[in-house]
Amino acid sequence: MKLYDTKSRQLKETTATDGLLTMYCCGPTVYRDAHVGNLRTFLLADLISRVISLTGVKVRLIQNITDVGHMSEDFAGDDKILSQASIEKVSPLEIARKYEEKFHHDLSLLNIGIADSYPRASESIDLMQSMIADLIEKGFAYVGDDKSVYFDAQKFESYGEISGNRLDSLKPGHRYEYHNDGVKKFHADWALWKAAGERSEMIWGSPWGPGYPGWHIECSAMSMKILNQHVDVHVGGIDLRFPHHENERAQSNAVIGHEAVDLWVHGEHLLFEGKKMSKSSGNVVLVSDIMARGIDPLALRLCFLENRYRSQMDLTWNSINAADETIKRWRTKMSTWGQSSAVTIDSEIESAFENDLDTPKVILRLREIEKSNLENKRELFLYADQVLGLYLDRPIAARELTEQMQALLDDRMKARSEKRWADSDALRLQLEDLGLQIKDTADGQSWS
Ligand SMILES: [Zn+2]
Repeated sequence: MKLYDTKSRQLKETTATDGLLTMYCCGPTVYRDAHVGNLRTFLLADLISRVISLTGVKVRLIQNITDVGHMSEDFAGDDKILSQASIEKVSPLEIARKYEEKFHHDLSLLNIGIADSYPRASESIDLMQSMIADLIEKGFAYVGDDKSVYFDAQKFESYGEISGNRLDSLKPGHRYEYHNDGVKKFHADWALWKAAGERSEMIWGSPWGPGYPGWHIECSAMSMKILNQHVDVHVGGIDLRFPHHENERAQSNAVIGHEAVDLWVHGEHLLFEGKKMSKSSGNVVLVSDIMARGIDPLALRLCFLENRYRSQMDLTWNSINAADETIKRWRTKMSTWGQSSAVTIDSEIESAFENDLDTPKVILRLREIEKSNLENKRELFLYADQVLGLYLDRPIAARELTEQMQALLDDRMKARSEKRWADSDALRLQLEDLGLQIKDTADGQSWS
């Protein structure tokens, strides 16, 4: 399979060793619900994993759970988990476990496959400490006067290769992480271990005194340990490219002495109704919001598939509704195309999947197959669905329209075409009383 590698800025063939591909995907910071933009990134790892599996290669996927150490500008430089814990008035661990469970629930609603393991930062402290000790010993890290341990950025010469943000272009104070507080040797050095200071919760003993880990070190420690010092494909959202992935790469490479990651894959941003989703603009959309409108959460999965993972996409309620209709239509048609559970490879779909995950092309091809005279439509759809994961063979409870329902639907269509909105609304109520759900889309009314 070919994927776009952010670091070399070109398509690269994935590698595997002895039939096994190792993959690492940066996981959630569990202090709030994952919004649909976060889920788009998590889906990316699932899609790659499914395509690779279809080629006969086994995938080992690790996704971390950040439950300590992720500081935030939103919380005035405080730990995200601790800040949310004080807002919800419960312990930090309760916050972390609550949102971790919700994260797993969201993944299952979107039919995102389960990773081989989900290591938690709070349970990997020893692992991080031993990596930090190793970095100090190898001369890549130092203990500051404040008893925090910092990575010595200038010691890692190829810093910035993923994002293009070279050290000489990073201005002091560029981000809150890059302030020089008088303790660091260089403003771009970052904390691997932070001294506890005033903090009394979520702290651990260490050779450098009580404290807690920085955010970036967890991904290096977990991936290098669990995946045996080599990651074939590293997945994350584009916002993690810098500084998170630059720092992760520096730490991992410094410890093992060679390139730790073969391919850096980044999923692009998601807009909602044309705007960046953010808590402050009040337009954060969760899977539960989609389900509250009676929409199958897999409609969201189809919307993502209709867009290439590395192009910015604008999600809208219209596109979600349209995807919901498409899934229903496909499931209905699948049941009329026979009962076979066999799959037939479609070479166009296969090469689209393997060519940098061109899912929009796959969806177009399915629409073509749908309209064609091919006799094995069901088998071709089932082939694609192994990656699409839309449960297209799920039977839908079919009910025949009665003559009365059909007549009312016809009347309503006529009323709408003549712009008699009051009549159209009254007819909708009559139809709903008969158990039909009516939806008006750009293509006219539809029912279920
Ligand atoms: Zn990470």
